[in-house]
Amino acid sequence: MPIIDLTSLTRTFSAMGNALLPCHCVLCDAPLSGELLCHDCQLALPYLRGHTCESCALPLTTQSRFCGHCLQNPPAFSRSLIPFRYGFPIDSMIHRFKYRRHLTQGRTLSRLLADHLQHSYDQQPDLNLPEVIVPVPLHWSRRWLRGFNQTEALGWDLARDLNIPLATRLCRRRQRTPPQRGLSRKERQKNLRQAFSVTRRGRGAFEGRCVALLDDVVTTTSTTRALSKLLMEAGAAEVHVWALARTPDR
Ligand SMILES: [Zn+2]
Ligand SMILES: [Zn+2]
Repeated sequence: MPIIDLTSLTRTFSAMGNALLPCHCVLCDAPLSGELLCHDCQLALPYLRGHTCESCALPLTTQSRFCGHCLQNPPAFSRSLIPFRYGFPIDSMIHRFKYRRHLTQGRTLSRLLADHLQHSYDQQPDLNLPEVIVPVPLHWSRRWLRGFNQTEALGWDLARDLNIPLATRLCRRRQRTPPQRGLSRKERQKNLRQAFSVTRRGRGAFEGRCVALLDDVVTTTSTTRALSKLLMEAGAAEVHVWALARTPDR
């Protein structure tokens, strides 16, 4: 059973920072001179291009501002800033980072996301820059089994690259997997919302602030919807979802 102390691994990941940036492309092993990936691999990344939902970044085939789900059930978050579609090689980089703790892959991913976020906020001056980053919490048992929370590890990097504080102890996951069988979508949402809570330390901490909610991959938006609602109820002025990759709704 993989037991590695989360705190030390996360701090090592963060402290090593740029030292973890490879001198060979992590995807094809071509030599690098300061870039993140070689030119060909960088061009071949599955960027989320084209028209996407203004709220959840779901790729759309029509010119409407929002996807059907966001139109029917507007989420509590106002924007999703996500650079990639969940496809090769981003999927395998995330997998290697998450389950095999390839820290160099993680550092490359966090730098790609930081560059995208920096560019997005620079290009849209009307968009408020978040004042705090909240990584999606893992239940303690899963964190113990996996050895670390990959989203929190990405968060430490983004916090340093973007100079925005990371809050790791203001929210927690109370239940591992809430029983969802036989429930309607609305009931499932409520159920999932109850899986997260703001800790005693977090009370008052979100009041009037623009919060970045960080996840690695956004699939159904259930988690980000539940957590952003909780953050708004805790007084946040606005929530932006940040993630590495987006998959279409299942
Ligand atoms: Zn390459
Ligand atoms: Zn949407």
